[in-house]
Amino acid sequence: MNPWATNHRAPESGASSTRGASRRDLLKTFATAGAGALSPASALIAQSARPANEATVGRIDVHHHMQTHFVPGGADAHWTPDKSLDEMDRHAIATAMLSHPGNGDQIYDGTEKGRALARRINEYGAKLVSANPKRFGLLAALPMRDVEGTLKEIEYALDTLKADGFGILSNTGEKWPGDPTYLPIFQELDRRKAVVFIHPYVNKCCRQLVAGVGDAVVEYDFDTTRAITSLLFNGVLSRCPDVRFIVNHSGAAVPALAGRIKDRVPGAQTSNFGARPGNHEGKNDKIPNGVFYELKKLYYECAHATYPMPMAALTSLVPTSQLLFGTDYPAEPMESTLDQLPNDALSREVLRALDRGNAERLFPRLKA
Ligand SMILES: [Zn+2]
Repeated sequence: MNPWATNHRAPESGASSTRGASRRDLLKTFATAGAGALSPASALIAQSARPANEATVGRIDVHHHMQTHFVPGGADAHWTPDKSLDEMDRHAIATAMLSHPGNGDQIYDGTEKGRALARRINEYGAKLVSANPKRFGLLAALPMRDVEGTLKEIEYALDTLKADGFGILSNTGEKWPGDPTYLPIFQELDRRKAVVFIHPYVNKCCRQLVAGVGDAVVEYDFDTTRAITSLLFNGVLSRCPDVRFIVNHSGAAVPALAGRIKDRVPGAQTSNFGARPGNHEGKNDKIPNGVFYELKKLYYECAHATYPMPMAALTSLVPTSQLLFGTDYPAEPMESTLDQLPNDALSREVLRALDRGNAERLFPRLKA
């Protein structure tokens, strides 16, 4: 028997519609703070002694996973919407944007089966959102390898399900997203000015590559870095400027490698080892505005990457307007992200932007 099924509370049952007074009070605090109150929300501090919670105003968690009983595996087979809500309340998170971690080999198999599975996941997520529209948002799944099916799912997810955006994997069908196969998908996402969260997924090429080093140690982040470089070098970022991409884990290795990536842009170098004098911005016909211009436009969520080292690299690359809050719950405990935030020397103003303000620009329906 699937233990998930016995613990699952279906969205139709109201999920969290009947909650205790403490949750209602907390929501009231979120609403007040979200309306522009700049003083620390004392009620939120009372919820938790964690210093990281002191400066927040109802966080928006853009890296947060739902699970379904019809897709096996995943981070927490016992996940329920209420488990998320309880953790969100403990950590001052007003809204979680739900994406499905997926099992890329199944959902993105390029067949009718994958297309149907993505639809089912999205309809399930939409029910969670309609039961709790202020607490949950939906980043819909796309059956990427099936380009025609993906175009239909974009339309259905945005127009019928009112999804807030999309969650895709860093590679699908062993191809990274800059592959020309996927260009029609990104052109449509560009036309719709869609939010697209790029979630790590280890390519078949690179699984169990290093003896004694699990895939979760570095491969998730390296695959994310490959995905961004693929979008950049193939001209997708410049050709589809209105897609609002969210990169996971504080940009993975992108911030640390940004300079080297710039210096290796084809056509912008004289040798394998150096940039061409006078073309220090890494420009070519696919990157007409230069590498840093494109990387600075992306959004970056900070799940399990709030250590001072990645945050220093990220904030050296991008303006604070591009920082977002994420937790990767339930794959990661929320403490993996929150415990380090006080060590990052971010001002209260920047923390507010990271926690909520920047995400409100991407998801205006969440504006208080
Ligand atoms: Zn995740």
